[in-house]
Amino acid sequence: MLAEGTYICQACGEEIVVEVDLSAGGRQEYSEDCPVCCRPHLLSVRIASDGHVEIGAEGE
Ligand SMILES: [Zn+2]
Repeated sequence: MLAEGTYICQACGEEIVVEVDLSAGGRQEYSEDCPVCCRPHLLSVRIASDGHVEIGAEGE
């Protein structure tokens, strides 16, 4: 089951939409390259009980 969340790229400021796999757990951390500027980010994904997805991004 997938949900969509967004984060703001720390390098270029673009809002990035990502798909999150809800079955992987309510808290997830993984790195992903910004599709706009290709800089790597560490994403901290938190899924609320109502299914709302919050994503924090840190530049690596
Ligand atoms: Zn970027």
